[in-house]
Amino acid sequence: MKEICIIGAGTMGNGIAHVFAQNGYSSTLIDIRADALEKALATIEKNLNRQLKKELITEQEKAGTLARIHTTTDMEEAVRNADLVIEAASENISLKLDIFKKLDQLCKDTAILASNTSSISITRIAAATQRPEQVIGMHFMNPVPVMKLVEIIRGYSTSEKVSSEIMELSRKLGKVPVAVNDYPGFVANRILMPMINEAIFTLFEGVAGVSEIDTVMKLGMAHPMGPLQLADFIGLDVCLSILKVLHEGFGDPKYRPCPLLVNMVEAGHLGRKSGRGFYDYRHGGKEWIPAERFAHSNA
Ligand code: NAD
Repeated sequence: MKEICIIGAGTMGNGIAHVFAQNGYSSTLIDIRADALEKALATIEKNLNRQLKKELITEQEKAGTLARIHTTTDMEEAVRNADLVIEAASENISLKLDIFKKLDQLCKDTAILASNTSSISITRIAAATQRPEQVIGMHFMNPVPVMKLVEIIRGYSTSEKVSSEIMELSRKLGKVPVAVNDYPGFVANRILMPMINEAIFTLFEGVAGVSEIDTVMKLGMAHPMGPLQLADFIGLDVCLSILKVLHEGFGDPKYRPCPLLVNMVEAGHLGRKSGRGFYDYRHGGKEWIPAERFAHSNA
């Protein structure tokens, strides 16, 4: 596998391109927005500088990595010779189905098509193509250059050959791949999101404040981040949409999203990216918003 294309140059796309290029693969980042591509390159360079400073890479490796990354807004042309295309565009089912239909027509027959989706069914995405056995989930974790795990999701029709090729490739990237079957939330989000949702319910019911809940989980369970801080980092809109996938997919009320989470998303308080979530990021440092602001009993 030589030529890798990554569709979507956002948070995940730039990290995926970084990791492939750093491990010797020619990587083309594709986005519909030229400014997203510029921003992605700047982010990759910033992250490489951080690795350089920590002496994890040399100046030469940094230069080599940057030289292997290409960018374009022309998907049609870029994917023709790709051996593997990893889609990391926005989490939207119709957008992804449309991208996979196009990829199926444009890519060579042998190309493997992967999606970095957090929650959309790989089986459904694969069914939009004429090559469902060559469609697979490659769920990288954020930040991609740092996190070791890649959840490899086998759709209903994904072949054993494609699955083992992608497992092997992930190891070559220095990652630890874990193979899972295609059910709502896969493994990572099926376990993580109910925990985050329960933390939000705990706040909503006035059991404890933001800081208390996060402190209990950090110091008591040795989690590096509390669940509310983590929710802010992931994006509250993303958490809500994954919970909806779990709720609808299993039809089980235990996955119902907390009304406080729904309210916060409707108010545009999406966490770190919007400046406010469970914490306030607008003035540099983060400060938690008092419990009274959240608890329904005090609202
Ligand atoms: P993002 O919003 O940061 O980036 C998405 C990018 O896709 C944007 O630059 C947008 O311009 C581009 N895009 C939209 N439509 C496109 C198209 N038709 N062709 C090419 N580019 C297009 O999103 P993200 O956080 O990087 O998430 C990308 C994917 O990765 C989603 O499926 C998400 O669920 C998944 N994911 C996200 C995280 C995370 O922590 N952010 C973690 C794991 C998986």
